[in-house]
Amino acid sequence: MKARRTRDRDRMDQGLITNPKDLERMQHELESLERRISTLEDEELEVMARLEDAQRDLDALTAQVAEADEQLATLATARDAKLAEIDAELTTVVADRDPVAAGLPDDLLALYDKLRAQKGGVGAAELRQRRCTGCQLGIDNAELAVIAAAPDDQVIRCEECSRILVRTPESGL
Ligand SMILES: [Zn+2]
Repeated sequence: MKARRTRDRDRMDQGLITNPKDLERMQHELESLERRISTLEDEELEVMARLEDAQRDLDALTAQVAEADEQLATLATARDAKLAEIDAELTTVVADRDPVAAGLPDDLLALYDKLRAQKGGVGAAELRQRRCTGCQLGIDNAELAVIAAAPDDQVIRCEECSRILVRTPESGL
């Protein structure tokens, strides 16, 4: 088919085709080819438009990913800074605690550690304004009188939560 078309076109170019039927046939063939080209061009435009849409979507998504990455990096930096802060605080607290713990009698320290394990990490609580700050319950007057009369080195326990009560000038005794 292709070979014949090429030959026909050569013959037409050279003015060799004189048969009106051949000319008409070739004319039809040319028109058909032009319609096909036009259809292909329309399809190409459509594909290009779809490609542009897809590229736009891709750009938007890429921007979103970049933004999320940036937020993640910011959060990671904040987390690391907070962790470093907590670590430093822990070091300070441990450094403060060790000499204090070393000065305490072993049985008191053992009681404190046992209570701390049982009571959500708080083994001792300040007696403040006649209230145990461990369980937040008020101490009744009779018990307050007992506590007030107790010597300074006696270990006082909250009757409600069993925690060691630490007396201070703000205890309200
Ligand atoms: Zn208590």
